[in-house]
Amino acid sequence: MAKTTLPTDLHITYQLQYRKCGKPTCGTCKRGPGHGPYWYAYWREGNKLRSGYIGKAQPVGASAAAVARAEARVATRRAPRYS
Ligand SMILES: [Zn+2]
Repeated sequence: MAKTTLPTDLHITYQLQYRKCGKPTCGTCKRGPGHGPYWYAYWREGNKLRSGYIGKAQPVGASAAAVARAEARVATRRAPRYS
């Protein structure tokens, strides 16, 4: 998936999400919630909800509070991993 250019003049909500790759033989998806978590950005353009893929790295524009909120939301579904 390609990285998205995020708007700089709109309020962006950041979320951490897992993604299933859809391969029936994928052990990662079978054992857990999928691949990731990856960062996604959500924002509104007019009355349209837009989203953009950021990737594994924490978004540069996100505040510490926004990062903490996103991590708290995804924590219950994340298997412990220390790398
Ligand atoms: Zn997979």
